[in-house]
Amino acid sequence: MKRVILLGSTGSIGCNAIKVIKQLKNFKIVGIAGYTNHQMLITQAKDIKPKMVTIMDCQYYKNLKKDLGRIQIRCGEQGITDMVENTNADIIICAFASSIGISGIVRAIEKKMRICLATKEILVSFGDIIMDSVKKNGVELLPIDSEHSAIYQCLEGNRGNNVKSIILTASGGPFLNKSIKNVIKSDVLNHPVWKMGAKITVDSATMMNKGLEIIEAHHLFNLPAERINVVIHPEAICHSLVQFVDGTLLAQLSTPDMKLPIQYALTAPKRLYSIVKNLDIAKVKNLTFLPPNLKKFPCLKYAYDALKLGKSMPAVLNAANEETVKLFLEDKLKFSEIPNIIKKVMNKHTPKKGNIDFYLKKEEWSKQMVRSLVC
Ligand code: MG
Repeated sequence: MKRVILLGSTGSIGCNAIKVIKQLKNFKIVGIAGYTNHQMLITQAKDIKPKMVTIMDCQYYKNLKKDLGRIQIRCGEQGITDMVENTNADIIICAFASSIGISGIVRAIEKKMRICLATKEILVSFGDIIMDSVKKNGVELLPIDSEHSAIYQCLEGNRGNNVKSIILTASGGPFLNKSIKNVIKSDVLNHPVWKMGAKITVDSATMMNKGLEIIEAHHLFNLPAERINVVIHPEAICHSLVQFVDGTLLAQLSTPDMKLPIQYALTAPKRLYSIVKNLDIAKVKNLTFLPPNLKKFPCLKYAYDALKLGKSMPAVLNAANEETVKLFLEDKLKFSEIPNIIKKVMNKHTPKKGNIDFYLKKEEWSKQMVRSLVC
């Protein structure tokens, strides 16, 4: 029996992970954590009956305590660490919408749990430190991000040698063929393919999601920025490709459903039957691939810039993006202003190398800088 901690259980990935684990034999959820959605967390806890539950927002601690009798309740960052220390878990799924709970995740690596990673922000901001620890502890880090899961699958076996480049596919978001001037929130939150949380949906519309994925891919597959490419693929059937030195391309194709990369991260290298409807390739009429438009979507270029500058710059980019997206969702910033603000913050920062606390401080500085530029 594999024991699983699920961080971000009330989000889109978290809910899908619960569905996947319910139909897998030999997997059991022993800890769940949510950010603020205490009602859903209580419902999930009553259903799953984990050993421990953590709510990040401590004001709801009492609500959980009252409703969840015998289950151990924790709150805040320390709660994640407590779950890692006390549930005897084999696997941790990281699916918060930001890098909260990072110290618990670092502890999970030290305890040699398999890390199933949906939260790309963790590798964007702390990639060097996390990957060093993953290597040092001989830990398996399995991506849940669909593109990175695709590349991971294309590179399995001895195929990691002789790679020329990797090619991340992007659906292009809702504004692929539309102007981004004067768009309103409902246009942005209406993604053509994937049903996801608000943060990543906005990131898809600005294409910063793909930018963050470039940095994520750099850390996961140890390739420089020049060997990580992006193509627009609106059908979202091909989830990414690897090109080898002889020019051969390998791709991974499937129904666009996050339950597949979640399941593979849990069971790899084994493949088990899935509840996801299989792709009927004969019914797929077109697979389109186009170059990305960096003028229209400058966030993609800023992510490449941040990766090349390295050190604390990716953390600053990530935090500036998080804060601009938050302000946009609060109707305090126009959609078209998001890239400009991120660029201004990056221009004010001189990247330096440091530890996790140092990068967290730089993230806080970046967020404050965004607020001072906007409010
Ligand atoms: Mg993705």
